Amino acid sequence: MIKIQTVSITSLSLAELEALCIVMKEPVYRARQILSWVYDKGATTFDQMSNLSKDFRRKLSEKHRVIQTNVDTITQTAHGTEKFLIHLADDNVIESVLLREGKRITACVSTQVGCAMACRFCASGLLGLERNLTTGEIVEQVLHIKNHLLPDEHLTNIVFMGIGEPLANYDNVVKSLRIMNAEWGLGIGARHITISTVGAADGIRRLAQEGIQVNLAISLHAADDMIRSQIIPSNKKIGIKNIIAAAREYFEITRRDISFEYILIDGVNAAKQDAESLVQLLKGIQCNMNVLPLNPVKEFNLKPPSRETIELFCKTLEKHGLVVTVRKKKGDNINAACGQLRLQRHKILWKN
Ligand code: SF4
Repeated sequence: MIKIQTVSITSLSLAELEALCIVMKEPVYRARQILSWVYDKGATTFDQMSNLSKDFRRKLSEKHRVIQTNVDTITQTAHGTEKFLIHLADDNVIESVLLREGKRITACVSTQVGCAMACRFCASGLLGLERNLTTGEIVEQVLHIKNHLLPDEHLTNIVFMGIGEPLANYDNVVKSLRIMNAEWGLGIGARHITISTVGAADGIRRLAQEGIQVNLAISLHAADDMIRSQIIPSNKKIGIKNIIAAAREYFEITRRDISFEYILIDGVNAAKQDAESLVQLLKGIQCNMNVLPLNPVKEFNLKPPSRETIELFCKTLEKHGLVVTVRKKKGDNINAACGQLRLQRHKILWKN
């Protein structure tokens, strides 16, 4: 496994940067000046930080970099969605997505290179887990997207729904959350940040204790362990009841509504009976249901259900008082299903 040697400013908290300034015999206010260059003015090199002395900039660059990643390619779609392929210092690549829905501008970030969860409908699972992303690599995805926006656009939301299971990279994800939320960092309100998990129950319980009121989205995709374990192999060790209990605890402590994500797969989890089981499972939980017809991945033999089946599924949930949103498949024409761009890149590399 390759170790990332150089520390990037995007990996550091304000307190850590202030401590660094003290060690380098500079006043502590320099830390906020540096962070303002990075997060407000989009600086990517120390040379751009014109209010720091040349000597300080030189010393900083001996052991630090402002950022440690760069944008490889940006793929656009007619909906205003743009997919970023980001190049890491160890030559790995990850994906991030910029989504525009009216005034809502969202950055969707990855948390791992690959993923160990091997969900049966996801391109990322095909390549397995390579490594966790560092705090800086997570933060920089948002920074690249923010720096790419037009002058009259503002980033409003961040979702941890890209490649990887965020709660399996717990420490780096929580630190990046704090940097994204901080007034000296990216300044995005906690209620505008969503962590999406496949159901790491212990991680959900830990996150509830962090004192950051971020939204929680749980990828459920089935109402019983038999079907869920077929779609998400890691479910065998966790179990749906454990996940639902952790979700209730998260709500009790944070008072934030929970979202449940449900990918509809024809012939697997999309029947009326599946919707009825779901209603029983979620009884008494304050939650929203986000239903998404499967975004087909060429490598799998799975397809989304018909429009009639989707409607019947959603109506059954609504009849029992669940709030249901059917999400659009915005990324179809840019291979935006999680991990597909990275997978394509691997295939090109393998071919060459
Ligand atoms: S859906 Fe998410 S958790 Fe599942 S394999 Fe893909 S990236 Fe991992």
